[in-house]
Amino acid sequence: MQSLRSILTLIVVLSTLLLPFSVLAEEALIKTNYLNVRNGPEESHSKIDQVHKGEIYPILEQQKNWVKIKLENKSGWVSLDYINVQNQLPTVNQLKIAYDQVHLREGPSTDHSITSFAKKGDDFEVLSYNNGWYEVKSEQTRGYIHERIALKEKKSRCTNVKNKTIVIDAGHGGRDVGAIGITGIQEKHLAYKTAELLKEKLILLGANVTLTRLNDEFISLASRTSIANISGGEAFLSLHYNSVADLPDVSGIQSYYFLKDSKEMAQAIQSALIKITGANNRGVHKEDFYVLRQNRNEAVLLELGFISNKESQQLLTTQAYQEKIVAGIINGLNNYFCN
Ligand SMILES: [Zn+2]
Repeated sequence: MQSLRSILTLIVVLSTLLLPFSVLAEEALIKTNYLNVRNGPEESHSKIDQVHKGEIYPILEQQKNWVKIKLENKSGWVSLDYINVQNQLPTVNQLKIAYDQVHLREGPSTDHSITSFAKKGDDFEVLSYNNGWYEVKSEQTRGYIHERIALKEKKSRCTNVKNKTIVIDAGHGGRDVGAIGITGIQEKHLAYKTAELLKEKLILLGANVTLTRLNDEFISLASRTSIANISGGEAFLSLHYNSVADLPDVSGIQSYYFLKDSKEMAQAIQSALIKITGANNRGVHKEDFYVLRQNRNEAVLLELGFISNKESQQLLTTQAYQEKIVAGIINGLNNYFCN
């Protein structure tokens, strides 16, 4: 009797340990737009939400032809006819081999034959994950490898700017017009234009955005930093344009940081901006600007071009070039968040 009870206890313990794990390993890739999510596993249950093509949700349980998916603040049922069930990628996308002579197999179990060996230090990209087996790929080879054998996580699954909070600071405003360009254009207007466009694109990519300046008004440097510090977040970007009336040939983009933590972000944004715009690279510099020094977020100040240069000024005021600048900033942020 005693032994039967302990066996039963063991079964209960094992099943509670194993069940949530194996169920959570699957996710639903939605195949259609406006797919109804219902509060039960049948067409007759009422609609509680809709999901759309390309979205991915963790699967909580399955009943016949229906699966229960986890939405942001609730869960609900969708028909299997409109989703693909796929294995949830573990929270790694890169693995490094920790030992020599690690077996790569043809399939996800030791029953499959060994196709090649990996050695200590080899890097692999993770393609999928199933029950402790990673499907991995390198330039030379691909195969399956068990998580226990010899792997350690290199970096977490990267989500780019999605769900990050970005504070955008359009330089100057109101009575502070900033630099004045060769045709009379004022820095404050151009900086605001870039800020608005950047905000729009970041929101489309799933970021949370705070602007320190909402229209053409004067905002003190102290207010800008306190707005940034209150809203918190992963990045503070102060946007500016330059002018040196005496040197009309000078052109290019330069980035500034002050606190050491922000240097890498400044470098990532600067190089992405140069890559996409082809502008003259004026480098990344440490500078004691108030909005950088007083910021609790990682903070960079970008001088995005010279409105005192005839050619630059023309380019900078076009929508196409503004789009390039914004794409460069976002590429830089993505590279920074993912590396
Ligand atoms: Zn400025």
